[in-house]
Amino acid sequence: MTYDPNNIFARILRGEIPNKTAYEDDYVLAFHDINPQTPTHVLVIPKGPYVSFADFSAKASDAEILGFFRAVGKVAKDLGADESGYRVLANHGRDAHQEVPHFHVHIFAGVNLGRMIKPTDR
Ligand code: AMP
Repeated sequence: MTYDPNNIFARILRGEIPNKTAYEDDYVLAFHDINPQTPTHVLVIPKGPYVSFADFSAKASDAEILGFFRAVGKVAKDLGADESGYRVLANHGRDAHQEVPHFHVHIFAGVNLGRMIKPTDR
């Protein structure tokens, strides 16, 4: 799958669509999800043009991968979720219902998240 430079997160990165920023550095932007599923629901995205987890893990540079995962941990900590706990989730492709074709992880926190996930029929 080729990267669509007009996907909504690319437009957020270019400043064309507003966002509620939680954190930003050279490698990532973290912002609050527009439709939060938990009291705290933040998305972390790399600044580079990667479609999904598969694309990012295969093609991003070591520095981008390091910068990204360090930032995810920092954002979760800064949100105050280290002690109570949080869940990091990345959806890749159809079965995971990935909606936005720019790699992102969700950080869910602020509530008891239950155990793991509940698969459904396709
Ligand atoms: P996914 O299904 O993993 O692709 O999740 C995409 C997420 O992006 C969903 O949780 C949406 O609520 C969220 N989202 C879509 N548009 C925006 C936006 N403009 N600002 C913040 N979050 C958004």
